[in-house]
Amino acid sequence: DFHPLSAAAQPVFDTVRALNPNEPEFHQAVHEVLHSIGPVLERHPEYTENGVLERLIEPERQIIFRVPWKDDDGKLHVNRGYRVQYNSALGPYKGGLRFHPTVNISIMKFLGFEQIFKNALTGQGIGGAKGGANFDPHGRSEAEIMRFCQSFMNELFRHIGEHTDVPAGDIGVGSREIGYMFGMYRKITNRHESGILTGKGIGWGGAQVRTEATGYGAVFFVQSMLAVHGETLEGRRVAVSGSGNVALYAIEKAQQLGARAVTASDSSGYVLDDAGIDLGLLRQIKEVERGRIVEYAKRRPGARFVEKGNVWEVPVDIAVPSATQNELSLESAQMLIANGVRAVAEGANMPSTPEAVGAFQESDVLFAPGKAANAGGVATSALEMSQNASRQRWNFASSEQKLRDIMSDIHDSAFRAAESYGTPGDYVAGANIVGFERVADAMLAQGVI
Ligand code: GLU
Repeated sequence: DFHPLSAAAQPVFDTVRALNPNEPEFHQAVHEVLHSIGPVLERHPEYTENGVLERLIEPERQIIFRVPWKDDDGKLHVNRGYRVQYNSALGPYKGGLRFHPTVNISIMKFLGFEQIFKNALTGQGIGGAKGGANFDPHGRSEAEIMRFCQSFMNELFRHIGEHTDVPAGDIGVGSREIGYMFGMYRKITNRHESGILTGKGIGWGGAQVRTEATGYGAVFFVQSMLAVHGETLEGRRVAVSGSGNVALYAIEKAQQLGARAVTASDSSGYVLDDAGIDLGLLRQIKEVERGRIVEYAKRRPGARFVEKGNVWEVPVDIAVPSATQNELSLESAQMLIANGVRAVAEGANMPSTPEAVGAFQESDVLFAPGKAANAGGVATSALEMSQNASRQRWNFASSEQKLRDIMSDIHDSAFRAAESYGTPGDYVAGANIVGFERVADAMLAQGVI
């Protein structure tokens, strides 16, 4: 059910499918990029002549390992750990770790593949990787989380390093988990190497704005897209899905810029708060109590919990899907469009299905793909690496300004690339083209390796 690609790209996609059967998310991510770069391959035959695509789609290294741990009752569990070191042409492998029961090799490879282009877009000299485990942190005690993180690092440590591979967080991995993993790395190696993980606590090598960066960055990207048309966020209604790190700080920045964010969600449903989400309460529930979103509606007068509801049925001007892959279907896109949505920025990785993306692009909705819109997180991780390497600490204001500059640079380069290849306003094509050209040029320059 994938539409045909250009003559240069189709055989590569056929190879991907033949060599990696039953990996639908991976196929989806690869197909999108191969589709976007069709015109680039025509303009630059040297990429095809030098087998750049064939090399690019194959991860440089894939590590799969056993993660044994004991729960609080002494029962032994074995999870599967992953690190896909996808491409290091532009810098050390960089990308998050996801702890979630749905993690498998397809998810790891789709995320790792997207990370290559996202990281290239940041202009920060970082390669692409992803990792994680099919571990479900939900309902696990603090002690169980700690033992799991320690066991995970007990294998991962031999594969990472500040010049080799620098993991960070993703779904299910925040500064608590990064802390436990960092501690284990330090104990095993007897080296306090700050730069081996990002997303650390501010007191021990972490960077200002890293926590906020993904959500803030997605909203900055919306600002840039609107600015092209002389519009602003002032007075706009915003729907955000998810209630993790990305969602929280997308809500915060949207409110700071004069918009009203009215939703948040988790796997049980969504909350609608027409008065605007009370961020203090949401943070208390999700970050301190680690509770469910329904709690928000219980404690906030005027807010409503819609059990198993689809957050995209809420009429809004701006949508920021910040939960997980393929959370926004064609039907959801059609509802958003019918309700007059103006802009969609993906805070999560690949949250919109290909059909949903198509629907947005056929209407006049401004659509920002995750690779561009959520790149602020990993960009600020690169800033954390810089600070670790130079033993510096930048303040909040200057770090946020750097993030703002990076996001506006990503916007402008994607915008210009889309224009130069004859698809003005197509940020999917623009982002894929810019990311691809940067990686492909580096691979050409560095020879067949
Ligand atoms: N997991 C985030 C992402 O999807 C951040 C990765 C990082 O900071 O290395 O880009």
